[in-house]
Order: sequence, then structure tokens, then C-alpha cells
Amino acid sequence: MTTTSSLRTVTAHLAEILDRISPPDPIELALLDAQGLLSAEEVVAASPLPGFDNSAMDGYAVRTGDVAEASEEHPVELPVVGDIAAGSRVRHSVGPGLCVRIMTGAPMPTGADAVVPVEQTDGGVARVSIRVPAERGHYVRRRGEDVQAGDVAIRVDTPVGPAQVGLLAAVGRDRLLVRPRPRVVVLSTGSELVEVGVPPGPGELIDSNSYMLAAAARDAGAEVYRAGIVPDDKRRLLGALEAQLSRCDLLITSGGVSMGAFDVVKEALREFGTMEFVKVAMQPGAPQGFGTLGERSTPVFCLPGNPVSSLVSFEVFVRPAIRLMLGKHRLMRQTVAATALEPMDSPAGRQQYRRGLLDREDSGEYGVRPVGGTGSHLLASMAQANCLIVIDEAVTFVAQGEQVTVFPLLLSSG
Ligand code: AMP
Ligand code: MG
Repeated sequence: MTTTSSLRTVTAHLAEILDRISPPDPIELALLDAQGLLSAEEVVAASPLPGFDNSAMDGYAVRTGDVAEASEEHPVELPVVGDIAAGSRVRHSVGPGLCVRIMTGAPMPTGADAVVPVEQTDGGVARVSIRVPAERGHYVRRRGEDVQAGDVAIRVDTPVGPAQVGLLAAVGRDRLLVRPRPRVVVLSTGSELVEVGVPPGPGELIDSNSYMLAAAARDAGAEVYRAGIVPDDKRRLLGALEAQLSRCDLLITSGGVSMGAFDVVKEALREFGTMEFVKVAMQPGAPQGFGTLGERSTPVFCLPGNPVSSLVSFEVFVRPAIRLMLGKHRLMRQTVAATALEPMDSPAGRQQYRRGLLDREDSGEYGVRPVGGTGSHLLASMAQANCLIVIDEAVTFVAQGEQVTVFPLLLSSG
């Protein structure tokens, strides 16, 4: 599965990663905290919905036989023997030739078998004039019509959205067993880095990666902690890793994985037999570290430091891993085929990810053009892009008008 000498393909590297990742155990959460997650249990309704026969309209509960002859010309007039409001706990009943005024959601009185909406009457309080006949069951919501006792309200693996949250509450559940959000720690390495808000001195720069990767991890569905900056110092790095590993399910570092003299992450972690540092046949983002560390074999991603390399690596390798941990079945973003609106060169033997602007033409077809250069320090063009254009390893030139594969980069895509 390697291309040239020592390069590993993107596909092979991703397969290695996914092979070593497993979802954390399900946990029980308060209902609203379960939103956006997958249910890890089947919920069976203990009682029916609606729980009792009730009126679907504001109107009059009648016996259908009494209004069978009602019409515009010859309305039927009935005495109104009571009022039933929603929430009424009193059992009402309607005898022959009588009716009661009833509000939406109020329990149907015994004896009555339909509701005539107030709009089809004169709205009378003591007596009411009814202008239409009613069929049995008209405007009555039957007990159990929505959910019967014993029905499955939500299955295992169902995404919990607003409707599911509503249904679960309706069947009496305020907690749910779900696949939890993995806890992700993001840590930046580099002696040149300063925290945002601190003016960078000579040769220093602001740590933007930890913010960017934290945002990306959160967008992928993780619960994120930014652990700040670690200088290029082996002892400090190992100390920081040890402190963080116990509180997360996945750890991401950026920087220190290339060929430089102070690439401490690679130097320090390659000694662990469980970590591997490889070159992947991609651009940007060739140097990649991945493995597991700590007692719980926590997955650790060591991404390159250049911001665009870091974010592209996250997209290609970390996002699918987080989705797998969330229990999702579709790990990769859905790609679209688009027409290249400009020609593009691409290096041989590297899967290239170009920043692009994707647009839907009037014809309904997608067109895409590259934005900015290919430099992996050019973060502004990444921020202008709304997609990554994927150019295969074997392809060295894409002509204008050719079809290319594109990953749309949507925010908070499920
Ligand atoms: P490295 O992979 O550590 O050699 O980093 C490559 C380059 O990426 C550095 O020279 C910085 O310019 C940049 N860089 C590394 N880490 C960060 C970071 N956390 N935030 C912003 N830029 C970074
Ligand atoms: Mg560095």
C-alpha cells in the first residue's frame, strides 16, 4: 500500500488509525444533553400517547345522533350542560340531547363521540346552535393513536434531534443512554508560540492551531479542552501529555513532527512502541504521527505545525476518528463532483488538498476554483475557502472543465 519508497497512502494511514479506535462506553445523559448524539438504548413507551381521548378543537362535544340532521338552513339547538377546559380532572358526561363546551386537549366526556368546532356553531354558552352534522370520532384524538404502550419510541443508533427529544419527554424520559462526545484535548508545541493576547516578541508567533483544532474537533462533535502551549522540550512535553491523557479520550498535538532539529514531539514519542511517525503521500500534511499512549490506550494524533497542514490533516484523519467514536456510520464527509473552473497543477505521488471555492451553477452543476496558493502557512486562503479540492496522487494536471472531487467544508455538518 505504499507509493514511492517510504510514503504511505492517505487511505492506508486512515485505515491504520480507524483500526485502533473504538467508541467510549455509552453514558446516561440528561435529555437535552443527549441532543446531537446517537441513542445507545431502545426506549419503549410504558403508556400510550395520547394518554386519553381528547378534543382536537375548541368546540362542543356532542353525540353524533343528536346533530345528524343539522344544516345551515336547519341548525340543531342543544343545551350546553358544562365546560371542559384542558387539564380538567373532573369526569364529565353528555346525555342524549345535550352537549358540553370543550377546549383543545380537554378530556372527552363520556357519552359524547365527536366534537363540533366552535366555528361551525353560534358559539352559544347556555344553548348552542350547530350548523353541521358530525361523524363519529370527528375532532377526537384517540388514546394511543400516536404511540401505544409497548411501542418502540426510539431505537438504538437513532440520532437524537429536536423531535426525538420531544418524543422522549412525552413518553416520560428525562435521561437517555447515548454514545458520548469524545473528550478531546488539543495541545500546541513550539518554543516560538505565545498565547493569543500576548504580543509576540521577535521570532514569536501566536498559537492559532490550538484554537483552530479545538474548533474543528468541536465541529466534528467532540467535547474539547485547549491545553495550551508546550515548548520544544522533551521533559515538558512528556509531563504535559501525562497530565492530559487521564482526562481525555483523544489527544491532538500540533507541531514538532517534521525533520527539524527541534522536532521534539517525534523525538520524544517515537520511543514509545505504540506511536508511529510516518510520511503520508499527501500535500499539505505529509508528516503524521499517530498511535496510542497511556493506561487506557488513548489515541494520540501528532499533526504537523503549519496551520493549513494541521487543519487538512484534521479533516482527513481526525474527523473520521471522532465520528467513529461518536458511533456514526458515515465517517467521511460526503464529496461532490465539480467542474474545475481553472486549471490546476498537482505534485506527482501526492494526494493534494487544494483550498477551493465551490459554487452551484444555474444548471445545478457544481463548479470549483482554487483560492490562494498551496503554501501550508497561508491560513487566510483557508478561511476564504468553503471546500477542499482533492486531486489524486497520480494526477499532475487538471485542465479547466475537468471533473474533480470536492469535500465541502460545512460548519457543524452532522
Ligand atoms: P513545526 O511543524 O513545529 O515545524 O511547525 C511548522 C511551522 O508551523 C512553525 O514554524 C510555525 O510557523 C507554524 N506553527 C507551528 N505551531 C503553530 C501553532 N500552534 N499555531 C500557529 N502556527 C504554528
Ligand atoms: Mg515546531
